[in-house]
Amino acid sequence: MIVDGESVRSRSGRTFESVDPSTGVPVASVARGDLEDVDRAVRVANAAFEGRWRRRPPAERGSILLDLANLISDRADELAALESLDTGKPLHEARLDVAVAARYFEYYAGAVDKIFGQTIPVSSDALAFSSREPFGVVGHIIPWNYPIAISARTVAPALAAGNTSVLKPAEQASLTPIRLAELGLEAGLPPGVFNVVPGFAEEAGRALAEHSGIRRLSFTGSLETGREVMAACAAHVTPLTMELGGKSPHLIFADADLRRAVPTIVEAIIHNAGQTCTAGSRVIVDRRIESDLTELLRQRLAGLTLGRGLDDPDMGPLISQSQLDRVAGYVGVAQEQGATIVVGGERTRPGDLDGYFFQPTLLADVQPEHVVASQEVIRFQGVEEAIRIANDTPYGLTAAIWTSDLDLAMWTANRMEAGQVFINCYGAGVELPFGGWKQSGFGREKGMEALLEYTQSRTIAAVLAKP
Ligand code: ADP
Repeated sequence: MIVDGESVRSRSGRTFESVDPSTGVPVASVARGDLEDVDRAVRVANAAFEGRWRRRPPAERGSILLDLANLISDRADELAALESLDTGKPLHEARLDVAVAARYFEYYAGAVDKIFGQTIPVSSDALAFSSREPFGVVGHIIPWNYPIAISARTVAPALAAGNTSVLKPAEQASLTPIRLAELGLEAGLPPGVFNVVPGFAEEAGRALAEHSGIRRLSFTGSLETGREVMAACAAHVTPLTMELGGKSPHLIFADADLRRAVPTIVEAIIHNAGQTCTAGSRVIVDRRIESDLTELLRQRLAGLTLGRGLDDPDMGPLISQSQLDRVAGYVGVAQEQGATIVVGGERTRPGDLDGYFFQPTLLADVQPEHVVASQEVIRFQGVEEAIRIANDTPYGLTAAIWTSDLDLAMWTANRMEAGQVFINCYGAGVELPFGGWKQSGFGREKGMEALLEYTQSRTIAAVLAKP
């Protein structure tokens, strides 16, 4: 783990194994942090906040973050290989994640000296103004699906705003977050500014969520865990950003350009083997083009290659045996409820690999009330029904609309209960505020909105007496 600028073992000396999901074979032994390690990390992060980071001129902080962005780009090959090994994701996807990680640090590096307050008109004999101040030590609890990209997404704005960080990666994928913190030191981050304490949910995770020294927490993960983390944060009224995933729809109207839509729809579900909070898993299609679209999706999904991430197939394995069992279970339940499998639906062993592989799967004849966890086609008749089905979920992370009619696109977009809506495209840049409506969470990551989330305002008012 990385605490106070050093690579150290856990205080208890315990470790756990990180497994290559393509083979099921352990590839690294990782320090197993617990309450004692978290407590130490929070204390050193607080000392670094007070002593070394918050008062440093913004331009200097920005320059260190930019150096880190450049170091990430310089080490892209090494980082992508490590990410691919630890998560099983295809190398080309891991490369993209590393480039995105560099971009987060670059984006927020440029913003450090542009965090403005306001002057507030009260009276001609008073001066009132607000400033945006850091919180102190920020805790970050992140999942296993995009370890380096999500680390960068949440740590870069926190540090840019003048906070210091303690990050707990997911137990399934800790390697690139640890490496990222090492690169941070190389780039010139003072010791204690960016700490990483790997470990299990019930040990390091819980300790971080419950710690009284954490002044703000950013959580990305499942809805169930998010509820537990919120409850833990209630004890100290720790403010939170919650990114809890979704069940995001593609709405395909009859005039959609399917040649343009189909590759994007497929990419939006196979990327990271579907293990993406924004995976576009519900294809809600005008019944007049349902059979054409289903056939095009089938052809494309059937032609995909599966394999070891480092061999750069179209799709890699799932992260773990438990995720594999879960996906297989959902497909079984969907069939029992009357859905039909258009393609896929089975566990598989590409090249005799013993990892956690599941075929890319498309289900048809799905009713909106079915519980499914793959890509599914649901037909609609009329725009009102399309919108109702799209919004008929407790989640509200993203949505996509495919049509050549701009009025229809904008009319529908205005009615989507989702934090991001895409028209004839899918997927977001670093610049676009990202986060959920409803049970997909609250608070925003990415863009300038995220930077402000890591600040709190202070208003100073003075009444001016005549000299
Ligand atoms: P998944 O995406 O596998 O469903 P979770 O949402 O459970 O994962 O986990 C996301 C992150 O939250 C991981 O780093 C995990 O260790 C951590 N975590 C899980 N449970 C808790 C908890 N009760 N308190 C704090 N952190 C937790």
